Amino acid sequence: MKEFQLIDQFFNGRGPLRRDVVHGIGDDCALVQPSEGKQLAISCDTLVEGVHFFADMPARALGYKALAVNLSDLAAMGAEPAWMTLALSLPQAEEAWLSEFSTGLFEAADYYGIALIGGDTTASPVKMFSITVHGQVPAGKALTRYGAHVGDWVYVTGTLGDSALGLDLLRGVEQTRPEHREYLIERHYRPVPRVLAGQSLRGLASSAIDLSDGLVSDLGHILKASGVGANIEVENLPLSQALKDSVSLDRALAYALTGGEDYELLFTVPEAQRGALEIALSHAGVKFVRIGQINAGNRLKLQLNGEPFTPEFKGFEHF
Ligand code: ADP
Ligand code: MG
Repeated sequence: MKEFQLIDQFFNGRGPLRRDVVHGIGDDCALVQPSEGKQLAISCDTLVEGVHFFADMPARALGYKALAVNLSDLAAMGAEPAWMTLALSLPQAEEAWLSEFSTGLFEAADYYGIALIGGDTTASPVKMFSITVHGQVPAGKALTRYGAHVGDWVYVTGTLGDSALGLDLLRGVEQTRPEHREYLIERHYRPVPRVLAGQSLRGLASSAIDLSDGLVSDLGHILKASGVGANIEVENLPLSQALKDSVSLDRALAYALTGGEDYELLFTVPEAQRGALEIALSHAGVKFVRIGQINAGNRLKLQLNGEPFTPEFKGFEHF
């Protein structure tokens, strides 16, 4: 299959129709019309076979996840998804695989209203996908990592640690009951980017980040960027029944604190905005809990029932 045939068959003309796409796939550049009064939020994430996913990962889940992890970055800035490009590198053009991959990709694209406006297709020794997403956010309203203040409350959405345990189940280093196994692997394969929640936090949260590397590591980015410290009460971390049933409490907490790829939002909210926050996130239909508070220090203090707590292992880092 030729490059252009591949693009036409699997990628061109699919996904949501957006009136702000002036000229999509097929020219040297795409042309888009940004909205008046909005800023662009742009982010890129790459998935490499053998590094970010196993070679046997189902192609449909892979297509979905390649986009979902990028949408999570838009969510963390409070941006609305608009356009994306896809750099696709493959050892060969397998039709069955491309059909499944593109189905998964457009499942996420259709749901979140993001249009594929271009990309690049190349041969490569391993499968690699790099997606660049463009979102829009009202000027000056983006959520950042640097706005946390002393006294702000720390919140997270959803439950933590499921994805990391799902990965360990796939790796064969943990075991659990079949129904939990299915749920936990699904959490690893199909993270839900908190796009609506992120937009609902505009004007309420003082800082935000999405949890890709694990809570300890990602909260560390907020603390460093904001020049503050935090107390986290680990007994308040949201844990799924599947996680609690599968491993000891210590290990569950370690997954929740240091496991990667939850793609939940972690954010800080001033006391004055707490009431408005509860209303906004209930409207967005997202579960969230308060797990701690920003303090005047410069480090992260973890406590379990008032005692200092040290988790077993640390978030993933390349190099
Ligand atoms: P050029 O050589 O000018 O960079 P290409 O021949 O690489 O253009 O691509 C032709 C058109 O197809 C361009 O509009 C490009 O954005 C689009 N395209 C290429 N690969 C992909 C892909 N994987 N997904 C979506 N669009 C793609
Ligand atoms: Mg090209």
